[in-house]
Amino acid sequence: IYILGIESSCDDTAASVIQNGTILSNVVATQKIHEAYGGVVPELASRAHQQNIVPVVHQALKKAHITKEQLSAIAFTKGPGLMGSLLVGTSFAKSLAFGLNIPLIDVNHMQAHILAHFIDEVGFNKPPFPFLAMTISGGHTQIVNVKHYFDMSVIGETIDDAVGEAFDKSGKVLGLGYPAGPEIDKRAALGNPKAFKFTKPKVDGLNFSFSGLKTAILYFIQKETKANPNFIEENLNDICASIQYTIIGILIDKLKLATKETGITHIAIGGGVSANSGIRQALKEGEKKFGWTTYVPKFEFTTDNAAMIAIVGYLKYLEGDFAEQNVAASSRLKI
Ligand code: ATP
Ligand code: FE
Repeated sequence: IYILGIESSCDDTAASVIQNGTILSNVVATQKIHEAYGGVVPELASRAHQQNIVPVVHQALKKAHITKEQLSAIAFTKGPGLMGSLLVGTSFAKSLAFGLNIPLIDVNHMQAHILAHFIDEVGFNKPPFPFLAMTISGGHTQIVNVKHYFDMSVIGETIDDAVGEAFDKSGKVLGLGYPAGPEIDKRAALGNPKAFKFTKPKVDGLNFSFSGLKTAILYFIQKETKANPNFIEENLNDICASIQYTIIGILIDKLKLATKETGITHIAIGGGVSANSGIRQALKEGEKKFGWTTYVPKFEFTTDNAAMIAIVGYLKYLEGDFAEQNVAASSRLKI
């Protein structure tokens, strides 16, 4: 069975071909244009998707050494994401499935970030059901109780900013480029995580809040630079380390609570922030300290990619769970 996966929910145009559970190709065209604006500009994102989609799909088929006539089904991201971006992938997928007269499969992007763990890869351990998935990305922060592929429930999520936004917005205050997450991560490795203390937000249960942290960092920087205009320059690595330490502390505290409440100790992470070396290390320590078993995907499957869309497409194909031709993109689609 060959599935073509198409992802266009935000600013990456991606296509992937999988044969059963194994990836044959995984192509991503990342849009650089947004860096100049300090964030994704929806209108520019849709235009770039429009330009990229055909070449990206072409390349994915070529790398997989198959023709489009060999495809068994087309899977695409239905949501959540930017409407203008989703429309490009959705319309393209529908047309192609219609033209080839093969099934169309709609995929929830946040489910896909989790089910990326089921791609067959050497050295890639698959989590056993039930497990907890923590999706940490630019637009989401969720803890999900995953009972089976398509039986999952969100047990905690952010009430304001996503964790990726906490990294990016803090970076903006420090004058770092967009996205700031990777640079904060790099600098954090060179700094003292306990140099500065930021209070953790108090949110009951398993929900998160990150907007207060961003404000606290902003006020802290304003106060310190008033006293010393070179404060940021002189302390940048320590500031980054302290911010990262605080954010990781928040994530780990909630995971501890989630494992206590559910009794589930298998923890899988997904989303762009799972690239963070601090969170990876904290999870490893959690294995020793709290008896967790943790699952961290390869980098290319944490950020937006189409292989995760294709694997969900494959799992749905096996169940005969197909979409109608009148299926519509949904920017706020829930798990
Ligand atoms: P969503 O999946 O919620 O729609 P998205 O797909 O736009 O959001 P991703 O591409 O999964 O988000 O992740 C992007 C985010 O990951 C950015 O906020 C970026 O700063 C952050 N990020 C990437 N690498 C790191 C890192 N090493 N440390 C911290 N954050 C990082
Ligand atoms: Fe994503």
